[in-house]
Amino acid sequence: MVDRNRRRWALVHELAITESIVAAVAEKLPGTPVRRVRVEVGRLSGVVPDALLFCFELATAGTSLAGAQLDIISSPGRGSCRSCGAEFDTDDLLTLCPCGSADVAVLGGRELRIREVELV
Ligand SMILES: [Zn+2]
Repeated sequence: MVDRNRRRWALVHELAITESIVAAVAEKLPGTPVRRVRVEVGRLSGVVPDALLFCFELATAGTSLAGAQLDIISSPGRGSCRSCGAEFDTDDLLTLCPCGSADVAVLGGRELRIREVELV
């Protein structure tokens, strides 16, 4: 029960994000048919790429983006340790530096942006 509610909440979250991506493109290119939208999603952004793909068709129905394809570029998370200065890739917000410190600054991986729109 808890699991099912969590999954539904996750989809509501991704549907809202997908709708704002679609709205941003439709606003910039009113009435222009779109073939493909490429979006960069950081692995620390909390956005589930599969859920975005799942929601895209629904969110584009009846808009100038109907039938367009969604490409997702997944960008890695990157952390920097404030204790030892090391930089490393991470896919987890609660990450530890290899030195054992939890005092880690996130340098990248929170991105969520439209990189490219390909027109028909
Ligand atoms: Zn460290």
